[in-house]
Amino acid sequence: METKITNNVLPTEEGFFGKFGGQFLPEGLKAEFDKITEAFLAIKDDPIFNQELNDLLKNYVGRPSPVYHARNLSEKYGADIYLKREDLNHTGAHKINHCLGEALLAKRMGKKKIIAETGAGQHGVATATAAALMGLECDIYMGEVDIQKAKPNVDRMKILGANIISVKSGTMTLKEAVDEAFIAYSKEYETAIYAIGSAVGPHPFPMMVEHFQSIIGREARQQMIDLTGMLPDHIVACVGGGSNSIGLFSGFLDDESVKIYGAEPLGKGEKLGENAASLTYGKEGILHGFKCLLLQDDEGNIANAYSVASGLDYPGVGPKHCYLKEIGRVNYETITDMEAISAFYELSRLEGIIPALESSHAIALGLKLAEINKGDKILINLSGRGDKDIEFVMKNYPLK
Ligand SMILES: *Cc1c(COP(=O)(O)O)cnc(C)c1O
Repeated sequence: METKITNNVLPTEEGFFGKFGGQFLPEGLKAEFDKITEAFLAIKDDPIFNQELNDLLKNYVGRPSPVYHARNLSEKYGADIYLKREDLNHTGAHKINHCLGEALLAKRMGKKKIIAETGAGQHGVATATAAALMGLECDIYMGEVDIQKAKPNVDRMKILGANIISVKSGTMTLKEAVDEAFIAYSKEYETAIYAIGSAVGPHPFPMMVEHFQSIIGREARQQMIDLTGMLPDHIVACVGGGSNSIGLFSGFLDDESVKIYGAEPLGKGEKLGENAASLTYGKEGILHGFKCLLLQDDEGNIANAYSVASGLDYPGVGPKHCYLKEIGRVNYETITDMEAISAFYELSRLEGIIPALESSHAIALGLKLAEINKGDKILINLSGRGDKDIEFVMKNYPLK
């Protein structure tokens, strides 16, 4: 069967989606990223590689993750609400999907070590897990402030055998951790690979991370057809760097009847520094080797990104999302901290599922859509579980 290719584009050879993406790198590193591109293109349709990856996705991660019809939410909000349960994956979120792919690729390329950055520690844990499994060394760069905040994840990474490198420059959070990891990588790229935490970074990472995450959309599309006999009317995912969302969206971009929504974090408000809504408030700029919509002031200084969900607080966003916004295929809406917190409790109380605060942004937007589209089918990507957020929520947002 021929499928019509409308919006589900690959980047140009230089890694551009429209004017976004690319590779803004020093020469030596550029050559290395080109080698990664070449290796990735060689393995992505290789039956032996895919057999190994698919076996791990099934028996190690636990895929396919189910699509669950949330009947209690549906009854209350008036639309048929379905959840894609990425929260049930090993390690508790979608990140393991691309970390396993990247680690397998690293092995194929003969690398000995994986270098990665982490904010709240979720990407660090997924990377350390994949590294342990594949017998690779693992260096995780993490801001000192985040190390103090995310102790359980730091301990997990240590147990898994990763080295944690504390970053003490600037705000000592995610952006500086990426800066430091890049510097380390530029010295070690002959023996190491950089495993980026989302569908961001220089080409080929946005394309590669989308490829490894696209299993979410492929599974979900078939599961909706099996469950309901049709496609959903609306699909929703939260957007940090954009990996879980692009993974879901890629399965539906060519289905013109499906309306697609990304939930961006509005944090405390619209002012620069109060949110991490790069697609809504960002302007074209270059960060960490690629062009995207970027939160910055009038002089082009990159702003601090903020969200109650630390997995969403990156000042940039994946280049394909910038492109999908520009061509109008995807609607990006904002959700505040408080809206996410109430969705966190709503899902917990009505369905007995505690979502990650990141995913709570998608739930919040899905519930808003349900209220204005009664009777429609809405599929929400539940990107991860909330265990990591429980202590934080109880301390800062206890239910009265
Ligand atoms: C990291 C994370 C996100 C945000 O990352 P994306 O690359 O935008 O998907 C969302 N949900 C969970 C549970 C996460 O851990």
